[in-house]
Amino acid sequence: MTVDCNSCGAPLEVGAKTRFVTCRYCSKRLAIQHSESSVYTEVLDDIKESTDKISQDMEVIKLQNRLEQLDREWLLQRESFMVTSKDGGKQLPTTGGYIIGGVFIAGIFIAVFGFIWTGFTLSMGAPAIFPLFGVAFIIFSVVGTATSLGKVKGYQNAQMRYQTHRCQLQHRLL
Ligand SMILES: [Zn+2]
Repeated sequence: MTVDCNSCGAPLEVGAKTRFVTCRYCSKRLAIQHSESSVYTEVLDDIKESTDKISQDMEVIKLQNRLEQLDREWLLQRESFMVTSKDGGKQLPTTGGYIIGGVFIAGIFIAVFGFIWTGFTLSMGAPAIFPLFGVAFIIFSVVGTATSLGKVKGYQNAQMRYQTHRCQLQHRLL
């Protein structure tokens, strides 16, 4: 049977089951496509180019989706690091505002109170439960402050991981 070259239009003789042919006139490599009503040719380079373009577009969409997902996940994760600020709202545990603003000073106050209370009750000869109560306050303030510092560190690490990952994705998009 005869098909036309899709590049130069020359008629080409091909077998009924032939799938690829090289044009005798313009030397283009052609794929022979069989549709229901007709048989036509496509230049192979064109097919490859459009396939490459599609897979490139797919890659970009995939990367963009991953960026959006990463941002969403980070917003959720960030939420879990939020602490209650002085005015009762939510804020991120940044080293300056958070520690100096409240927890550290509160921790010192509680510890000082614990020491004074323990000393006072001991000097009064109060039953053991009273000085122990003061010791509990000191332990509470130390553990509380350490936990807060851990939270700040945890937040900073998580933020670093997020930013690094985001940078890598964005770099691949360029
Ligand atoms: Zn041709």
